[in-house]
Amino acid sequence: MSIQEVKTVSLNGLEHIKSDNKVIEGSRIDLEPLSEKYLSKEYVSWLNDSEVCRYNSHGSSVYTLEQAKTYIQQSKSSESLIVFAISTRSNHQHIGNISLRISWQNRSGEIAIIIGNKEFWGKSIGAEAYRLIIELGFNRLDLHRLWSGMASDNRAMVRIMEKLGFIREGRSREALFKDGRYLDIENWGVINQKQPVSSLPVEVLDRKKPDYGKPFYLEKLRYCVRCCMPETNEGIKFDEMGICQACQSQEQKIHIDWVAREKQLKQILERYKSKSGNNYDCIVPISGGKDSAFQLHVIIKRYGLKPLAVTFSHNWFSETGKYNLWNILEKLNVDHIMFTPNRELVNKLAAASLYKIGDSCWHCHSGVGTFPLQVAVKFNIPLIVWGESVAESSGRACYFEPMKFGAESLFLKISAKVTPDEMTGNHITPKDVYPFQNPSKEEIEKVGVLGIHLGDYIFWDDERQMEFVRKEYGWKEDEVEGTYKRYKSVECIMPGVHDYSKFVKRGFGRGTDHASQDVRAGLVTREEGFELAKYYDSKRPEMLDYYLKITGFTEEEFFKIVKSHREGKAKELP
Ligand SMILES: [Zn+2]
Repeated sequence: MSIQEVKTVSLNGLEHIKSDNKVIEGSRIDLEPLSEKYLSKEYVSWLNDSEVCRYNSHGSSVYTLEQAKTYIQQSKSSESLIVFAISTRSNHQHIGNISLRISWQNRSGEIAIIIGNKEFWGKSIGAEAYRLIIELGFNRLDLHRLWSGMASDNRAMVRIMEKLGFIREGRSREALFKDGRYLDIENWGVINQKQPVSSLPVEVLDRKKPDYGKPFYLEKLRYCVRCCMPETNEGIKFDEMGICQACQSQEQKIHIDWVAREKQLKQILERYKSKSGNNYDCIVPISGGKDSAFQLHVIIKRYGLKPLAVTFSHNWFSETGKYNLWNILEKLNVDHIMFTPNRELVNKLAAASLYKIGDSCWHCHSGVGTFPLQVAVKFNIPLIVWGESVAESSGRACYFEPMKFGAESLFLKISAKVTPDEMTGNHITPKDVYPFQNPSKEEIEKVGVLGIHLGDYIFWDDERQMEFVRKEYGWKEDEVEGTYKRYKSVECIMPGVHDYSKFVKRGFGRGTDHASQDVRAGLVTREEGFELAKYYDSKRPEMLDYYLKITGFTEEEFFKIVKSHREGKAKELP
């Protein structure tokens, strides 16, 4: 289905699917909106069959053709219910129904299924039908949650739930009276996280494990009491309750007057636009990631500015990253400048970087901060618009004081820490690192550079933004090593190595970062977060082989160098 189609379907909700009588094609079954053509004695007989109805509310009184007719009419005209006939692909035999009852306000949908034709039991037809409905619910109707209730004795359904990554959410005791006894009803749900949580190895979320829900270094490190962040995170601050700065920021975020903030943003943008004359209104530094697409969309479509897009290429672009970068530039018709350091230099810096900062990526930390600044000075464009707020995931800032910066490069101080001059030696010359030198303070002041983060002025929601750019611009996700999120750093091939070094150095990686964000957003529990973190943080990235190849390090050397960068409590790690 094309993006435009997805959008239309999503906007018009169910109407579109119903009116077109669109068939959803599976591998062995088709789903078609239930209509009179499916009305048959056989269909009615399912609902009078005690075996078929063993676990549902039917079967206690006789179900009639008339009732079936009414049900079909109701489902056809309902704005919140859609029922599909399940038919075999091979000979279009009607074998059951599956329904989705939607609460639009909560973006939640209840799925119920009946396989009436018993010949098709035990053949995973139910699981396939569920998969098709999940696809419909999450990807086309943009629902947030799907759930099903079922008798706890219904082993076949429980197996489907487990297989599809639903989580058992709770149990209503003796809620179904059936054949003279009370049965418990279990509720199972799945959240649309756009993350392959359902494809995790089963043991990851196995609650019966003795260490389930516990952090990796329980004995050695102190963790935020709200998220999964350990004390070894750089710049982390806990309040007297033991809650970290990022968790506090998340709370601040909710109490901020975002309408007022957006007004401030408009004022800033208008001020610079009115001064820009025929020049560009601002610089938007982009990597090709999700934020890039969203920043450009906001600046161009919402505020009508003409930006110059600027990319520092780490020269480690993934195929998906290249696609996303060129795609968004095309779709939004943006002028673009990219700087790419040569391969040999990247390899040399990647090795030196491990010695100097304990991870592979100095040239990128440094370049993404410096290059936009150089362009600002050279092209005389004073305003630089970054994406996510520094407060979002770090303790270095808080939402109450939006971080604006001018004469000094924030990134150099924070991420790269080591200056270009300090990177020289060992076959790296001052000429090599020249592209990483910041403009002088005087040059920056002369242009009057101001850097702002959109996330300080408009409510930042990674998940929603990703869904948006995916739908609106065909932005693509992919697997990213070191995390379960498929959109963070998808533009680069090296995040796995970077984050694995962090894990070795500080006892946590990006699994922890992302799980903590999701815990704060209420998408997973803290216990689930720790399980995700443990699984992804400690997994050796495949790209480590490539890194060792380009740097000439052995794996032992890699560990030794990284461990030499441990500080504070991390020194006690094994
Ligand atoms: Zn926290």
